[in-house]
Amino acid sequence: VTLLKVQTIPDIRRQLDPIRAERRVIGLVPTMGALHAGHASLIKRAREECDTVVVSIFVNPLQFGPDEDYLRYPRPIEKDLAVCSDYGVDLVFAPEVGDIYTVPQLTFAEVTRLDAHLCGPFRPGHFRGVATVVLKLFNITCPDRAYFGEKDYQQLCIIRRMVEDLNLAVTIVPMPIFREPDGLAMSSRNVYLQPGERASATVLIRALETARKSIQSGERKPDVVKEAAKHVFSTEGSVRPDYLEIVDTREVQPVSEITGAVRIAGAVWVGRTRLIDNVEASPS
Ligand code: AMP
Repeated sequence: VTLLKVQTIPDIRRQLDPIRAERRVIGLVPTMGALHAGHASLIKRAREECDTVVVSIFVNPLQFGPDEDYLRYPRPIEKDLAVCSDYGVDLVFAPEVGDIYTVPQLTFAEVTRLDAHLCGPFRPGHFRGVATVVLKLFNITCPDRAYFGEKDYQQLCIIRRMVEDLNLAVTIVPMPIFREPDGLAMSSRNVYLQPGERASATVLIRALETARKSIQSGERKPDVVKEAAKHVFSTEGSVRPDYLEIVDTREVQPVSEITGAVRIAGAVWVGRTRLIDNVEASPS
């Protein structure tokens, strides 16, 4: 079995049509490339559960703000193909921007309310860009199952809600966050971290764990929990937090009291690198 790389929509449809006609299970792992062990964990699960595994690699311009890192986002395509080959991927769909977007594109997918907090206000238009490209990828590949990491927790909730609200015929499979030994969540953006910044970057997971412990030891007031986490941030002068928030697990809205399972999510700047992470917490 050899890996096939396909660029255009007609080509990927030509590859998948006969597979679908045979009622074989198609799994899609959408990515922006620069694949790491986190992506690999999604691919591995897809390989276990599906007959045909498709990995899409597309740095989606629509989900980047004008001052964000679209141009400098890493694009190591040969290395990515080697990773896909190692993990038994059948098809890599790697379109160019012109293959995906009409000029001008006038139609978008937007999941309202779920973008109101966490990364939404800091990245206007980001989740509309994500939902639009994911809906396109679903329409192009018609997967039975699609794999998303909890690393991007708000994104996962938004995609799940889009599938539910629009009756899409795909099963969303959430996957746990894959971490470095010291707890830093794996991310394609970690390569931006300068040697001196790498150690400071763990402050995010340390703050989230502090918040989780506070909740598990019975604290129900979000403000008290957040104060404890913010104290951890204050120990790393070079780190600038965007937010740390405690939200419900379905609509990612801040909770006024912690009564059941919640998600604690945060975003920080370490130098020029923006990192996000989150953990689950429940009162004991
Ligand atoms: P990206 O290439 O960053 O757009 O990520 C593609 C998919 O991989 C998304 O569903 C991410 O949530 C997921 N992902 C990225 N990093 C991790 C990680 N450390 N653990 C688990 N999933 C991840």
